[in-house]
Amino acid sequence: MTGRPRPDRPRPGQSGPDQHRAVLSVGSNLGDRLGTLQGCVLAIGALPETDVLAVSPVYETAPVGGPAQPDYLNAVLVAATGLRPLGLLTATQRIEADFGRVRAERFGPRTLDIDIIGYDEEISDDPVLTLPHPRARERAFVLAPWHDVDPAATLPGQGPVAALLAGLDLAGVRRQPGMVLRAAAP
Ligand code: ADP
Ligand code: MG
Repeated sequence: MTGRPRPDRPRPGQSGPDQHRAVLSVGSNLGDRLGTLQGCVLAIGALPETDVLAVSPVYETAPVGGPAQPDYLNAVLVAATGLRPLGLLTATQRIEADFGRVRAERFGPRTLDIDIIGYDEEISDDPVLTLPHPRARERAFVLAPWHDVDPAATLPGQGPVAALLAGLDLAGVRRQPGMVLRAAAP
């Protein structure tokens, strides 16, 4: 973390008046997938007023929808952030761009995709930032890693992650014990 000390800032894991809990899904299916996800985790942790509280195991997952494309690596992060939802979206889109993402085709292959799965208990149908993410409830590649790091999690307005996950086909999601993402540089 850089910048001036901020004595008013809550410590990681504490919730303060300006700290919010965000759940982020990260995925990559082009290039050095694991290296990209690790760089992404560090970049998110380097955002202003943002701490990565938990990083899930890595899953290799079959693509859902879109054209024929390589398998993804996916993971979920839980972060504490002072950024507002749209500020967090802008920041994560910049990180996507920094990793060379080109928006060629919706649901097509990408070096890095960052989706905001939830932000506190907020619910919004704004197409710029829909909360919770509108397809999270049907995506095992989101719910399985999220459940690993927070078994008691709920998707606002839609129920416990454990219950949603129990209704999904897990055939396409494979945990990769040999692949580990660190929340912070050593
Ligand atoms: P997808 O992730 O659905 O494959 P993109 O990453 O290209 O597609 O995102 C398309 C648009 O989705 C973005 O421009 C963004 O404004 C919008 N969007 C709406 N809700 C969310 C969300 N919860 N997280 C991330 N992007 C979102
Ligand atoms: Mg996205």
